[in-house]
Amino acid sequence: MSQNTERTIRIALAGNPNAGKTSMFNALTGSHHKVGNYPGVTVEKREGSLEYRGTKFHLIDLPGIYSLTAYSLDEVVTRDFVLDEKPDIVVDVLDSTNLERNLYLCLQFQELGIPVVAALNMSDEAEQNGLLIDANMLSRTLGIPMIKTVGTEGKGKEALLDAVLEAVEAGSSGKMPNYGTEIEAKLALLEAGLKSDAVFSDKYPPRWMAIKLIENDEHAIATLSQHGSGAKLKAQAEEYRAWLSKHFGKDAEIIITEQRYGYIRGALKEAVKKIPRFKASVTESIDKVLMNEFLGLPVFFLIIWGIFKLTFAVGEFPVQLLERFFAGLSSLLMAALPAGFFRSLLVDGIIAGVGGVFSFVPLIVMLFLSLSILEDTGYMSRAAFLTDKFLHAFGLHGQSFMPLMLGFGCTVPAIMATRTLKSPRDRIATILAVPFMSCGAKLPVYVLLAGAFFTKNPGNVVMAIYLAGVILSMVSTVFLRKTVLKGQTTPFVMELPPYRMPTVRGIFWHVWDKTWQYVKKAGTVILAASVLIWVITTFPQVGNESELASRFADEARIEAPAAAQEQLDGIVAARLSEYRLEHSIAGSIGKFLTPVIQPLGFNWKIGVALIPGFTAKELVVSTLGILYGAQIDAGDGASLQDALRNDPRMNPLVALTLMVFILVMPPCFASLATIRAEAGNRWMLFQVGYSLTLAWVLAFLVRAAGSLLTGM
Ligand code: GDP
Ligand code: MG
Repeated sequence: MSQNTERTIRIALAGNPNAGKTSMFNALTGSHHKVGNYPGVTVEKREGSLEYRGTKFHLIDLPGIYSLTAYSLDEVVTRDFVLDEKPDIVVDVLDSTNLERNLYLCLQFQELGIPVVAALNMSDEAEQNGLLIDANMLSRTLGIPMIKTVGTEGKGKEALLDAVLEAVEAGSSGKMPNYGTEIEAKLALLEAGLKSDAVFSDKYPPRWMAIKLIENDEHAIATLSQHGSGAKLKAQAEEYRAWLSKHFGKDAEIIITEQRYGYIRGALKEAVKKIPRFKASVTESIDKVLMNEFLGLPVFFLIIWGIFKLTFAVGEFPVQLLERFFAGLSSLLMAALPAGFFRSLLVDGIIAGVGGVFSFVPLIVMLFLSLSILEDTGYMSRAAFLTDKFLHAFGLHGQSFMPLMLGFGCTVPAIMATRTLKSPRDRIATILAVPFMSCGAKLPVYVLLAGAFFTKNPGNVVMAIYLAGVILSMVSTVFLRKTVLKGQTTPFVMELPPYRMPTVRGIFWHVWDKTWQYVKKAGTVILAASVLIWVITTFPQVGNESELASRFADEARIEAPAAAQEQLDGIVAARLSEYRLEHSIAGSIGKFLTPVIQPLGFNWKIGVALIPGFTAKELVVSTLGILYGAQIDAGDGASLQDALRNDPRMNPLVALTLMVFILVMPPCFASLATIRAEAGNRWMLFQVGYSLTLAWVLAFLVRAAGSLLTGM
């Protein structure tokens, strides 16, 4: 009962990118989130809570930023959060190895008039670098409690919470940077004016606002319109700025920045001693090679190539094991259960659909294992840096690189990886580019069709389709950037973090998180879709079984009078299932689609196979298997490839057209659900309409050009 009256302390967790905010957040709340290595991983708002010494704490993880100047969206988000939601305290996570830069932000929180406690994070690294930081001295000089922490190990978190409790109790320390006589005089005048509107100054702390006005902060100036005598204050600030820049010979905002850094340096001089070290830092020596002007890119491609090689080499065996497991399960059920709808649903529907997707799990694990090692060591930000220029030419970003690479594995995690992009427009552009990178599920379709119709060089055809996807992805982005996503790509501001030894725990959670999301999708979306496909290919059951059988038997006897009984049975079974399929819902849909797909040279069976392709691309293969299953049974030891080749409606041109269509058509349901979650309903619908139209047009062009050239 009494717990209801208990107070909850709301902590806003802030800091520069890569200072260890997320690590600290996880250490405090015990929730397991991704700990990323490159800036901006924390785009979304994450919250968590904990209890300590009988008090409840609610934590909000703010985006990583360098300043509160409100230039970037993240800065606006942070500033508005602190101003509007008024957390009880800001805990600023500082990178102790780079205090000068990190304190710059910290002081701006202090100026907002909210209690601030700083975590001197990465204190282990600072020590290794020979930095001796006197936390007490620094606290006293700046008026901000400072606690040494190691985010990755949760070291110092109790002391940090104790400091938070104390600071919340005590309120803001009132100590703030001093900007020197001239500026302070102007600030005092502006503050007095700002205080004349109580409502305004309640929301926007007068001193902070006054500083922003001297800094010529656009947002702050715009905010003045809410002030009773805003126009007057605006003119006043303008006059002061002019006076200051004349007096100092430089812009007022530069003077403010310089004063702040001067104040910080003064404090650090007292509180931090550096033990000189002779060795060049490890990071610098590694970067001499990895970031080398000439070696950088080749080494990078080698690493990526190695990862894909390793992923598929190591992943192949467990994938086969899983496939064998599901095949075994199928035959076990076939033997144990009586023939009927239930068995068919289990075997042909659920196991075929879900099993196919589950079998890819080892590949996903391997891929993310390698990638998260690259990420946590700090190499990934370097890869983004190296590819930035190239991708910018197409309206993408260095940070788009990783999602695009992941796209070759699976579109779902690839789209989730776009979270590292800060500008929403860059994010959308990357999200729309990713599906053209052929994902793992498209590979079996390509292999099947290329193997059946391009027997001389199937490998080259598959490669060409992959390449076409990459080119299409780039060209499409250029097009979208000129139309629906007009606007500049945001400049690439990014620090290269030092190389770090990744922790087993961090890697484990990262891989687990991603794998679990994949498995969850397989267990929900794919499961539902598999059942649906089974239903539409099975029902309605038209006609009387024995009547049909005897009719087909008569036909077969007329067509092939010399055939043995066994062969005849095969032909009858084949016709029966073909008849069933043709009259099923799927068959009707396929026929309904004929006017649309005929110009592409597709028969109704391909139309039917494409429908589950919307759910998951690998289902195209299994559906074709079901559709041509009859022919396979009828032929002597024929494979699906033979059956496709024997279909007079199929030829190499149709196969190529189909591959192009599958390359471009909308990604699977799971991907669409992810796009919806990450970018919203509108962009998901756009993606469907866009890629479907593009797929049809490109397939039509391929067909038309092919017909002209080959006469097929
Ligand atoms: P954020 O961008 O501020 O959320 O930073 P993260 O929590 O993602 O941390 C960035 C990197 O620094 C990760 O590789 C962490 O494992 C690492 N890290 C975080 N805190 C510490 C620390 O106190 N000491 C050391 N050595 N590494 C840390
Ligand atoms: Mg983070």
